[in-house]
Amino acid sequence: MNMIFLGPPGAGKGTLAAMASKSMGVPHISTGDLFRAAIKNETELGKKVKDILAEGRLVPDDLTVALVRERLSLADAAVGWILDGFPRTIGQAEALEAIAAVNLVVNFDVPDEKILFRLTGRRVCKACGKVYHVVTMPSKAEGVCDACGGELYVRPDDREEAIKTRLSAYREQTAPLIDWYGGRGSLATIDGSGTPEAVYREFARIAGV
Ligand code: ADP
Ligand code: ZN
Repeated sequence: MNMIFLGPPGAGKGTLAAMASKSMGVPHISTGDLFRAAIKNETELGKKVKDILAEGRLVPDDLTVALVRERLSLADAAVGWILDGFPRTIGQAEALEAIAAVNLVVNFDVPDEKILFRLTGRRVCKACGKVYHVVTMPSKAEGVCDACGGELYVRPDDREEAIKTRLSAYREQTAPLIDWYGGRGSLATIDGSGTPEAVYREFARIAGV
């Protein structure tokens, strides 16, 4: 099954995609993670997008589409996939339509106050990428990853200024995709404000898994 997880930053798409990927045996493809890996490895792409990510702006469509096209051509994507954070513009959705068919678009609905709370409290492991929250999902030892002992950090785009930019990019450029996919009959909206387990149950029901 080919799926898209759509929703504002902080909606929990990444957390849910990791859970669904494990249970369904399809790869979790996060464009944000791919960009962050490119930045960490100091590739040509990484150099181009570093400042864009830190400020919370969207990477231009041509770079993003090329990255996704390449990732979807790898062997593991033949069984299906979960795209997390792509498409984020109508242009990207049109480009994806020419690459592959999408079976299900899951739209995560979360109120704004909750989004701010989630993003400002988010901590991420520098080494393995595991995500924590200082209040709702704290690590056992402060600043240290439970899974690998790596150092936890605040993503540069989880600073208040960048969060504002991300939310307005979402409203202006990504939210129109809800109607775009709605008109194509492949959209299901779920309440993303509960615990990961509660959101997963709703996801499993609509995805029929
Ligand atoms: P979040 O959903 O929490 O904002 P992501 O990890 O999905 O975080 O994305 C982080 C950043 O990566 C975005 O703010 C943007 O700069 C860039 N990015 C990720 N996906 C896309 C995309 N499809 N189009 C353009 N930029 C993207
Ligand atoms: Zn870790």
